[in-house]
Amino acid sequence: MENSATTRVQEFIGDPVADAPPVSRAKLEEIFQDIQSDLRFDHELNGCLNCGICTATCPSAHYYDYSPREIVQLLWTENLEGIYDAMQEKIWACAQCYTCAARCPFGNSPGGLVMLMRETAIKHGMESAKNVLRPFSRVMLKLISTGNQLSPDMISKDAFPDWGPNISKVDAPLAILRKAIPVPTLHTTKTAWEVNLKTSVELYTIWEETGVLDSLKVIDANLFDVIGDIMDEKREDYADWLEDQEE
Ligand code: SF4
Ligand code: SF4
Repeated sequence: MENSATTRVQEFIGDPVADAPPVSRAKLEEIFQDIQSDLRFDHELNGCLNCGICTATCPSAHYYDYSPREIVQLLWTENLEGIYDAMQEKIWACAQCYTCAARCPFGNSPGGLVMLMRETAIKHGMESAKNVLRPFSRVMLKLISTGNQLSPDMISKDAFPDWGPNISKVDAPLAILRKAIPVPTLHTTKTAWEVNLKTSVELYTIWEETGVLDSLKVIDANLFDVIGDIMDEKREDYADWLEDQEE
């Protein structure tokens, strides 16, 4: 007689009427391994009472179909199908405020676990990660190429339609207003502040060495190429500047 425990293992997960191909069990295990093997995993997950304190204090749980308790339970019980399913949408609802981590009686960090799941979703090039990050490509470009996350000229009704009617409160003549600031480096709307060439090159090297740019390549190859070209130019400029100093 066959072992009932093994016959109940689901070989594939997927919607039987969807066009998307099913996900093999091997793939589900690989994804979970990637989450679990991160050095932070054992620090963020110590057990779970299923008490729901994290969900009761979670701001995102009030507005979305999302529960940190559910996420932690999926990981704690190694529910591979549920983990994969949550990575398709739910994990992107977390605001990363870490209120949950401050309240959990087990010292878990549901928000930290969500971060690991997001990084894994990016590593595996999941569509959910691409869809969530696509609207932020301008911010990524600005951040990596200038060291500024946002600049005044990015704050406009057109750029942030999801801000609703409140965007009109910041839709002001910024070019004129910035000129009124006594600090000369702020007299532009192209950057929030000026980051010098050396710092910019160093930041890029950090993102390169820590794998951030590898992740970007998986999610948005075009943006990766554009940023690479900008940084090649900056590195050349910086090398020229260093040469000039030696002369
Ligand atoms: S993660 Fe912590 S707070 Fe949330 S249900 Fe589990 S034990 Fe409770
Ligand atoms: S970090 Fe995420 S899961 Fe935790 S309370 Fe904040 S929004 Fe909720």
